[in-house]
Amino acid sequence: MTDLLIRNAHLIDPASGLDTQKDLLVRDGRIAAIEHPGSFTALEVQDTIDAAGLVLAPGFIDVHVHLREPGQTWKETIATGTRAAAAGGYTTVVAMPNTVPVNDTVESLTWMLAPERNSAIHLLAMSAATQGSMGEHLTHYEALAIAGAVGFTDDGKPILDDHVMRAALVVAARLGLPISQHAEDTRLTGGCSMNAGPVAFRLGLRGMTVEAESNIVERDIALLREIESDEGLRPHLHVQHVSTAKALSAIRQAKQQGLHVSCEAAPHHFTLTDEALEGYNTNAKMNPPLRAEADRLAVIEAILDGTVDCIATDHAPHAAHEKEVEFERAPNGITGIETALGLALRVLHREHGLPVAHVVALMSNNPAKIVCLKDRGSLAVGNYADIVLFDPAVEWTFAAAQSLSKSKNTPFDQSPMLGRVHATISEGRIVHRH
Ligand SMILES: [Zn+2]
Repeated sequence: MTDLLIRNAHLIDPASGLDTQKDLLVRDGRIAAIEHPGSFTALEVQDTIDAAGLVLAPGFIDVHVHLREPGQTWKETIATGTRAAAAGGYTTVVAMPNTVPVNDTVESLTWMLAPERNSAIHLLAMSAATQGSMGEHLTHYEALAIAGAVGFTDDGKPILDDHVMRAALVVAARLGLPISQHAEDTRLTGGCSMNAGPVAFRLGLRGMTVEAESNIVERDIALLREIESDEGLRPHLHVQHVSTAKALSAIRQAKQQGLHVSCEAAPHHFTLTDEALEGYNTNAKMNPPLRAEADRLAVIEAILDGTVDCIATDHAPHAAHEKEVEFERAPNGITGIETALGLALRVLHREHGLPVAHVVALMSNNPAKIVCLKDRGSLAVGNYADIVLFDPAVEWTFAAAQSLSKSKNTPFDQSPMLGRVHATISEGRIVHRH
């Protein structure tokens, strides 16, 4: 029997609305009971954590990470990326398919999800939406769904062809799975390496317009509407890392009309603007790029009003030598799995008044719904004991050198954080302890 008792915690469970002092008992990897503090004193347990002063919440779920395995294991592996995720309070991550080779077959998906990859936490994956993520021929959705794919995406590349995107939404809808879209009209962004605007002008770099994002979001929403009325299906579009006011207003409107759209926001998009690129800082280069202040504030507003469903990091490790090149040649992407909570609490909670329970919902219960997890993302008795314990009030400074990720490409080295993970428990096992 494997027991763990967590005492005196401030339990926050968005699904049930619990936001109070409780003791929680874990048995055999599952949540066995939740009672008033002191209720389990007579019980003999193997391990006890005194969580006074800490928040106990459902373990975080990130629907958008790049673990680089197979093919680019000098940047990250499933083992190192998931250990970093555990340090960030995550108990489930969804790996993107732009590995080498692209994860577009049952064989590659099965290989990624195999126990031999040594994931520290619950690992899920989306398969490529089209073969080789070339945007032309759909992969075998039904077989991939049976093998465990929780959605389909050509992340990093958008599906530009209307007919292909329509077919992807239709086939995925029949399986009840989302199409997760990287919204970028690449016909408008050739040769661009940052956001269009005065900073790009000053730096002499070509910029991506906000329309490059919103055009694709608007096209995809039009397809949802068309499919609903023509086929009687209800496709689920998930828009990745939304970064512009324009795309967010299209999503807001689509939701009001009852279409099945969800979207994620990345911590860097609500924390930084394109000013962070002054000095040609390649560790602030990602896609979609950091935007102007008005767009940053629009992302925050969309989080506050519920247009944004979840926080996803787009954790994208690159080795130092790959980022230490001319700005335009540097690859897109930053690490982010260990700084998400600290930035969310600092920016959304302290600076913009979002309650801690809402931050928890954006990082656990809401993303669980997007990838249809039934026994994770909330603290219901019987669920997997996927739990994070964090101090919501402690201020600390993130040091990239101490990151558990293989890569350190973050613009948040030496940045102030609010709130720190004390322990992460995955299916009843303590996988990280600070
Ligand atoms: Zn990505």
